[in-house]
Amino acid sequence: MNVFDRAALLEGLQRLGLTHMQQVVEHRAEEAAAASSGYLEFLYQLVEEELAVRFERYVETRTRLANFPFRKTLDQFDFAAQPGVDKRAIMDLASMAFIERATNVILLGPPGVGKTHLAVGLGTEAIRRGYSVYFIRLEDMMQKLIQAYKEGCFVQKLRVYLKPKLLICDEIGYTTLDRLGSHLFFELVSKRYEKGAMILTSNKSYGAWGEIFDDHVIAAAILDRLLHHSLTINIRGESYRLREKLKAGVLGGIVPPASVDTKA
Ligand code: ADP
Ligand code: MG
Repeated sequence: MNVFDRAALLEGLQRLGLTHMQQVVEHRAEEAAAASSGYLEFLYQLVEEELAVRFERYVETRTRLANFPFRKTLDQFDFAAQPGVDKRAIMDLASMAFIERATNVILLGPPGVGKTHLAVGLGTEAIRRGYSVYFIRLEDMMQKLIQAYKEGCFVQKLRVYLKPKLLICDEIGYTTLDRLGSHLFFELVSKRYEKGAMILTSNKSYGAWGEIFDDHVIAAAILDRLLHHSLTINIRGESYRLREKLKAGVLGGIVPPASVDTKA
């Protein structure tokens, strides 16, 4: 009969990579003895705990790789404070069926209404459900793509933005793209078309997208691909950031627009 060797058990768990189990096994064994749990029940509990810890580690790694500007979840979004956002529509999206269908989600609205928060929240939920996610502001992505193009490694760089199951492209419309930038963005959009879902946020209505891109023809081609399989969430309402300040009257007469310009 094998003699129980505590040190060998702990070392074995370590060698198997069961690091959490290694830390808690003795304590859990005492608890199981006190509660007269069966052997299998005790083992089951240990395995569940190890899996839970590993899952959180996986989420943490994927979250770091996702390049979010901040960490926010959908739970932290106050839907009551933003009646312009349909909670049901967001919760439907949280099922991630849109990723499976390679559908785009476009969040439109003036600054501060929670577009980035919702995009990060959906991205976080996507990670928890096992999808790879990458977040980037349009301006940053275009800078990288244009530089890569000039250095002759555009195709390799583009792969960075084609690979994630969900690409979040934030702040479309804060800066304009020149001819090259517009064409490189079109390249990305058409390569992801019907293959990979995107979440895009913009402070500009579609009618104003012609001014973001070099000309109306390329803007129309981009919108055509983006909108074919898409859901648009148009958020009206006031900035959450400025809400408290507005209440306190700090901003005097300056009132930000309550919605994006919807003129075509
Ligand atoms: P936008 O991208 O539309 O400019 P953000 O998503 O960056 O706005 O929101 C600005 C700040 O306000 C963020 O810190 C965000 O978490 C917070 N915020 C916005 N709307 C809400 C909301 N309804 N509930 C909770 N926090 C919100
Ligand atoms: Mg934002």
